[in-house]
Amino acid sequence: MTTPNKPAPVTPVLTKRWLSPQSWSIKTYEQLEGYTALRKALKGTPEQLVQLVKDSGLRGRGGAGFPAGIKWSFMPQNEDKPHYLVINADEGEPGTCKDIPLMMADPHSLIEGCVIASYAMRSHHCFIYVRGEALHCIRRLNAAVREAHAAGYLGKDILGSGFDLEITVHAGAGAYICGEETALLDSLEGRRGQPRLKPPFPAAAGLYAAPTTVNNVETIASVPFIVNGGSDWFRTMGTAKSPGPKIYSISGHVEKPGQYEAPLGTTLRELLELAGGMKDGIPLKFWTPGGSSTPMFTAEHLDVPLDFEGAAEAGSMLGTTAVMVFNETVSVPWAVMKWTEFYEHESCGKCTPCREGTYWLAGILQRMVEGHGTPADIDTLLDICDNILGRSFCALGDGAVSPITSGIKYFRDEFLALCEKNRVGAHALAGAQS
Ligand code: NAD
Ligand code: SF4
Repeated sequence: MTTPNKPAPVTPVLTKRWLSPQSWSIKTYEQLEGYTALRKALKGTPEQLVQLVKDSGLRGRGGAGFPAGIKWSFMPQNEDKPHYLVINADEGEPGTCKDIPLMMADPHSLIEGCVIASYAMRSHHCFIYVRGEALHCIRRLNAAVREAHAAGYLGKDILGSGFDLEITVHAGAGAYICGEETALLDSLEGRRGQPRLKPPFPAAAGLYAAPTTVNNVETIASVPFIVNGGSDWFRTMGTAKSPGPKIYSISGHVEKPGQYEAPLGTTLRELLELAGGMKDGIPLKFWTPGGSSTPMFTAEHLDVPLDFEGAAEAGSMLGTTAVMVFNETVSVPWAVMKWTEFYEHESCGKCTPCREGTYWLAGILQRMVEGHGTPADIDTLLDICDNILGRSFCALGDGAVSPITSGIKYFRDEFLALCEKNRVGAHALAGAQS
């Protein structure tokens, strides 16, 4: 399973402080170069910072990979209206669990990144929108904000630069759709979170219709390292089009599940080496490169480079680098049904293809798994997927079809066998998972 003579790559950048004692305290952070990037950044101009992030090639770590420096450059240069930076810390994609560990272990890297990014975009108020279930994380962030305030890194005239910034930590209420940036903005404004029509993109009309940039936690936490190390250093990791380090969340049937930092472009074969290999040596059957919204891969894809281009060329997407690993004991139709039930539950109901489509997809899959499906159901599933993909209002609809279409693509016989036998009970299948 491992490639001989090729050590698994590691890049202790974003996670380098995580194992230090009291890593979340400002004292530890300052001892380990914390807030040195901010001092450096405040000596330059906002334009220089935007150019630096553009040169680094940093791409959004929330899943879509949009170039961060380019997104920042969409913000108007004037300050006719307030500008806002909003951190999307609502991570809800199944399997994704990188941002909460980052904020728990090293909250000041996010806060320092927020101050630098806000300065670059002329924002004086930054919101960190955290999923409401993560109360421990909200408490830790609030404590870190207080520490940063007391030390002069937040508030009025930061470090004597004349720049002012306040950070508000806001708790979401547990809806997956509020991770979609415009639904998040609606929710932040106190309304029911539902996606808005784009364009206008948030840089033109975002929070309170003012220029807004929404960035993921890991994206902004990368910024202080870029300021200190420079764009060329950042580009020594990863690939030409997907530079830098990345936190891969590895869960499922591996010996040591957890967060593993490695350069973009690392393969599952290498990640498995870091995670101690397949649990109990039971062979790999299927896996997701970036959460359930990204089409699944199989054992044939062990050497696909997990960067934005590599994952796409192999027929999937990098997404959130939530690598969920499943061994041969797992039924693909059962796993696909569970993911589909999630999308059905989380569909916000705004558009018909997703609202109605996920309802029917979940129902058909449940019927199949309960042993009452027919082979024609497979085509019906694909037909419904075809009517959701590209016809939904936001990315949730597209994501919902990924497990189904990729599951049928690689494991059609398993779906077929389930229908033809017509006697496999749900309890028998559920038992097989445990
Ligand atoms: P998107 O490609 O529409 O947008 C990505 C970002 O780029 C947004 O901030 C958007 O405003 C900006 N953008 C794109 N085109 C632009 C333009 N022409 N002008 C200005 N700005 C532009 O993707 P999305 O719908 O925001 O996100 C989809 C991704 O989210 C999926 O790939 C999925 O992996 C990921 N996702 C992540 C989570 C999580 O928990 N982190 C949950 C669900 C989905
Ligand atoms: Fe809502 Fe789904 Fe439509 Fe997105 S695709 S707007 S989640 S109904």
